[in-house]
Order: sequence, then C-alpha cells, then structure tokens
Amino acid sequence: MTSRQGHGRAPSPPGDYHVHTTCSDGSGSVEECVARAVALGLPEIGIADHLSGVRHQDWDAAAIPFERLDDYVAEVRAVAARHDDIRVLLGVEADYVREHEAGFADVLSAYPIDYVVGGIHVLGGFDFDDPAKRGDPRWSDPDALFVAYYEAVRRAAEFGRFAFIAHLDYIGLWGHKPGPGVDAGIDAALDAMAASRTAIELNTDRVSDPAGVMYPSPDTLRRACARGIPLVLSSDAHAAEHVGRLWDEAIATARQAGYRETLRLSDRALVPLPGD
Ligand SMILES: [Zn+2]
Ligand SMILES: [Zn+2]
Repeated sequence: MTSRQGHGRAPSPPGDYHVHTTCSDGSGSVEECVARAVALGLPEIGIADHLSGVRHQDWDAAAIPFERLDDYVAEVRAVAARHDDIRVLLGVEADYVREHEAGFADVLSAYPIDYVVGGIHVLGGFDFDDPAKRGDPRWSDPDALFVAYYEAVRRAAEFGRFAFIAHLDYIGLWGHKPGPGVDAGIDAALDAMAASRTAIELNTDRVSDPAGVMYPSPDTLRRACARGIPLVLSSDAHAAEHVGRLWDEAIATARQAGYRETLRLSDRALVPLPGD
C-alpha cells in the first residue's frame, strides 16, 4: 500500500452499473448485490432492474410492472441509505421501443431515477434472444436483423435518455456475423452515440451467452473508443456473486481497445482505468 504514496491516487476499480435483483429477474436481493460490491472494493454500484418500455407487454414478463416502480425506488433508496461504504445508484434497464418514446419519457420523468440503461432485446415485436424462436423464418436473413438492430441502437442514442447502451452487438448472440452490408449501420449507430454522449458498456455477463463472448465485439469497442464514446464496465449480474465478474479481464479488454478511462456515473466524470 505504501507504494501508492507519491504516485498520486491509484485508480480504483470502476463501478458496476448493470445489476439485476429480485426486483426483476435476478436471484439476489438489492442488499446482497450491494454487499458483494462492497466486498470487491467497488466505489459505486448501480442497480438497474428491467423496466418495460411499454405497458401490458407479454414479451417482457420479467420486468418491473409500472405499478410497482414506487416499491423498487423505495427499496434501492433504503439500501443506499444503509451504506456509507459504497455509493448506490438507482437505475433501470429499459427496452427501447420507438413507438413508445413519448409515454416512456413521461414515466421516466415521474420517478427519481439516476440513470437509464438502454437495452434492445426486441425488434418490431420479435424477441430475437428467445431460444424458442431460433427457428423463426426471420433468422433466414440475419443481415436484415442486424441492420434493424443497429437502426434501433441509432434511434435509441438519438432519443437521448439513455446513459449507456447495454450489450451492444447483442444481435449476434446466436453466433451470426454481420455481412459487409451491415457496416454502415454500425457506424451510424456509433456516430449517434458519440453525438449524444451515450456511453457504451463492456458487458461481462455475456460470456454465458451462446456466442460465448463479452459484448460488444472487440472491433465495435475499438470503433467506439476511436469516436470518444465513454465506456462503463458492467456485469449485467443476475446473481449477487456475479457482481463485478471478470473485472480484470474486462479492464484488459477495454485497454486493448484503446480505452484508458471509464465513466463514473455518479458525476459523469471520466476516471482512469486501473492498469498503468
Ligand atoms: Zn439486457
Ligand atoms: Zn441486463
């Protein structure tokens, strides 16, 4: 520890800003997830349970119902008030649905939520990550889905309400690779994120997905870094023991893509990534 003295303040590990609890589809309570982050020495944690972007949708039964949003806010705030050893932020992961932008913005404005994570798991009503729909005819033209996906990311960034986009490149979860015709759409999505200062996350939970990779791809992460898009590290934990999972590997991956800083969400400051 004495070696840190005289070298300025050593970078602390980044906060984990994408954690699911029993308030939506996670298995750990808010308190258990926060306790895990404290044990790891994280300076901040953001609870970001799923919130529907639409009322009465049948494809997102795991999300917090709108009528229980008050309880969620109260639960996270109560745990935050008990902890002076870590900063606990209140977030939600919301599906971006273009047709419901206005109503969704109204809901967000009505609650004291610190930040919103933009997740895209559904395209035009097609929940492309549903294993039961892998035989759906829409998968016969993966590039069309890729194009629609990055178009949704671009619009989500232009919507301007998301602190960061969750698991970018998620459309590749079944192992499909985008053809050259998708490239302009990826650029447009990243350009929109840069213009709106919508951050990108490096998502360490996705190693458990069928494609077996973190999201986004190394190539997308490099392109994001080149555009100056801020980075957050996220576990997307659905269990308390997965908070901060694979942090060292994620930090190394971020550095390989060119990142030297990460976004601290509490004050939107860029802070050094550990490793120098
Ligand atoms: Zn998600
Ligand atoms: Zn998530």
